[in-house]
Amino acid sequence: MDKIEHIGIAVKDIEKSNALFASLFGKPHYKMEEVASEGVKTSFFKTGPNKIELLEATKPDSPIAKFIEKKGEGIHHIAFAVEDIVSEIKRLKEEGFTVLNEIPKKGADNKLVAFLHPKTTNGVLIELCQEIDS
Ligand code: ZN
Repeated sequence: MDKIEHIGIAVKDIEKSNALFASLFGKPHYKMEEVASEGVKTSFFKTGPNKIELLEATKPDSPIAKFIEKKGEGIHHIAFAVEDIVSEIKRLKEEGFTVLNEIPKKGADNKLVAFLHPKTTNGVLIELCQEIDS
């Protein structure tokens, strides 16, 4: 596993949060993207070498809607860059982690992603992400 690729924050209203984080960081988000399969709208900010992803649910059964219902807005996941997501999934399964996506799926920002269940990672939802070569 490599560097932190981004931190995901669950928000109720992405337009409001775009304005909030733009004033926090002193610059606007640089892109928005909807991932229809996940029922989320995402917005990305850069702060120095770091990236922050805001996530808003686009449907009531979206994982983000469920998260906010249970825990409220806030940090939703930490994403780590990996070179080879398939071999990393295999390694983590062998280590006893519960991988939620045994087959990586297409996420936002041109990435292949997979999540680890927070019950096996001290309550932290971990995302693995591999850049898709294009
Ligand atoms: Zn993410």
